[in-house]
Amino acid sequence: MNFEEHAAKPLLRAAGIGIPRGSLARSPDEAAEAARALGGAAVVKAQVAAGKRGKAGGIALVFSPEEARGAAARIIGMEIGGQRVEKVLVDEQVAIKHEHYAAVLNDPTSKGPLAMFSAEGGMDIEEIAAKHPEALLRFPIDIRAGLHRGALATALPPVEGIERSDLVDLIERLYSVYRDHDAELVEINPLVVTKAGDLVALDCKLVMDDSGLKRREATAASGTPDRLTAIETRARALGLKYIELDGSVGVLANGAGLTMTTMDVIAHHGGRPANFLEIGGESYTLGKPALEIVLSNPGVKSLVVNFCGAFARTDVMTGGILDAWDAVKPAVPVFFSIHGTGEDEAIAMVRERLGIEPYERMDDAIRAAVEAAR
Ligand code: GDP
Ligand code: MN
Repeated sequence: MNFEEHAAKPLLRAAGIGIPRGSLARSPDEAAEAARALGGAAVVKAQVAAGKRGKAGGIALVFSPEEARGAAARIIGMEIGGQRVEKVLVDEQVAIKHEHYAAVLNDPTSKGPLAMFSAEGGMDIEEIAAKHPEALLRFPIDIRAGLHRGALATALPPVEGIERSDLVDLIERLYSVYRDHDAELVEINPLVVTKAGDLVALDCKLVMDDSGLKRREATAASGTPDRLTAIETRARALGLKYIELDGSVGVLANGAGLTMTTMDVIAHHGGRPANFLEIGGESYTLGKPALEIVLSNPGVKSLVVNFCGAFARTDVMTGGILDAWDAVKPAVPVFFSIHGTGEDEAIAMVRERLGIEPYERMDDAIRAAVEAAR
């Protein structure tokens, strides 16, 4: 789940990291009022879960409530990163001396949290990594031992205007935000040193691990729910994992790994998935809605049904699909690959009830589906 700046910054403040004063405005009038409360001068910032708002024209420095009203009128309704701006954050202006970068995120290489810091900030992390690779500190954290302050202090570059111990405090607090809210990423860019010498987070992006949503209800309440299509909403209510894509081969498989593999093999044969639906875990008895949902996407020109059973029985999954078959009446060719627990029964059912021969090799089933979609 993504957190917009106005939702992420209070989490920083609660952990002891400085942020500017400010408030959220949903209309030009509210923005003018918010600027007035700050003394007139303010920065008006589009609130969407997307980066590069500055470059897109979604951030304005203003010097009076009237200017704040005008900026909000211009920014609300803009489209940034495919999202319509519906609200702005009106923050006090900060006199910036220097912009830095700090983050803690899940790192696939070290298979744990990684703290990152760069004395050069304000631009994208990709740009920082390309332009100033030597200035970018990557500091893996051992999740059992916790953050080692001494090692971090040694690894950090000297930064003008910031005491090293203050920087270590900052990163330690950022790590606590990452831990306490089950974040995958928490990024402060820019982290600024003000002309008054304070360390302030001017922007923050936080992405929470969706697996943490249930136990972090209080945090999740301020996040931005995923925007789902009507079919995705229906699937989610049933506990089915369904994602719409824009190719032409439908994917119905059990288990995340097998689903990803199926999509990789589709791509390998030059095709593109139209969607994927996973009926793993507890939802393996939901063959009927699964078939309806996966075929309700009009982009689907052929369908791969790829089952590999261990605890989940392939005959139960297949039975559900066959029971739905007459009601759903698939109008596209369907290609089966069925392996593992219950495969003999499942394959016999497909043969007898549909007159379709499941493929012995997954690769052949998927290649045939890609060809049929053409
Ligand atoms: P992003 O473009 O979506 O990452 O938005 P940011 O919140 O990071 O803002 C982009 C840039 O706007 C920052 O890097 C700053 O240079 C500038 N900016 C944001 N807030 C202020 C402010 O209070 N004062 C000044 N002078 N510049 C600001
Ligand atoms: Mn930023």
